[in-house]
Amino acid sequence: MSPVPAAASPDLEPVPAEEIAEIRDLTVDWFVGHARDLPWRAEDRTPYGVLVSEVMLQQTPVVRVEPAWRAWMTRWPTPADLAAAAPADVLRAWDRLGYPRRALRLRDCARAVVERHGGELPTDDTELRALPGIGEYTAAAVRAFAHGLRSTVLDTNVRRVLARVAEGIALPAPALTAAERRLAGAFVPGDDAAAARWAAASMELGALVCTARSPRCEACPVRGLCAWRAAGFPADAHAGRRRTQAWAGTDRQVRGRIMALLREALEPAPAFAIAAVWSDDVQRERCLASLLADGLVEQVGSDEEPAYRLPS
Ligand code: SF4
Repeated sequence: MSPVPAAASPDLEPVPAEEIAEIRDLTVDWFVGHARDLPWRAEDRTPYGVLVSEVMLQQTPVVRVEPAWRAWMTRWPTPADLAAAAPADVLRAWDRLGYPRRALRLRDCARAVVERHGGELPTDDTELRALPGIGEYTAAAVRAFAHGLRSTVLDTNVRRVLARVAEGIALPAPALTAAERRLAGAFVPGDDAAAARWAAASMELGALVCTARSPRCEACPVRGLCAWRAAGFPADAHAGRRRTQAWAGTDRQVRGRIMALLREALEPAPAFAIAAVWSDDVQRERCLASLLADGLVEQVGSDEEPAYRLPS
């Protein structure tokens, strides 16, 4: 569930209120019978557990997040537990979820929750967004999924569903527009519980049925109201502007290899051990420098004989 940046745009065609209500009802009814049984949705979930799931899910699929989330919550069941954890332990537990800065931000967030809110995640949007690593999307998700409060939860899945159903286009623009935000807001019911149900149901519909590459329209509860389907599935007008996420040979891959080495290492890794993970000296040094700058790695020993480890 990746948050998205915003951009200005003209208004979209308004969708009639009765149609919005019908789309919502069909989606929520479908959700009742099809929602995945995920631990962060259980009755005994905590706001902190929901936050951990949202941060992990930002760039990592559910299948990889679920075991990591369970292990994390067993080890650090409350913000106070995580706040007291050593950064190196947090980074090891993050393991291969990717984008490990998220792990340190989550720990920073836990510390702020303890210091500012007595260890309880706030319900207020402004207070949530003042916490480290919590932006518009995550604050909205925590309000809806943890506290059952009304908010406009607009991740890539929901944006795609609304783009297709209401706008009749294959995929939304690369950056979130103000018009999309208004459209999404029009779908959110006034009642807290109903709004939280719509948030979860629309997101699940995007994740399971209205997927980016191969939507399963035959299984879709709103197929009879879908503007993109009615228009004959016109092609993605923004295709040329979309970034493709390559992996092999990128700095992300090199950073991942260095982090994997240090997660496994029992002692600080000398420079020759770091050199063994990637043969391109310039790229490897650039990546190591960026990991040091991000606080994900620390240097020990002298500049003549440096060694590297996860931050203590
Ligand atoms: S009918 Fe197809 S394209 Fe339209 S919302 Fe359903 S799955 Fe998505």
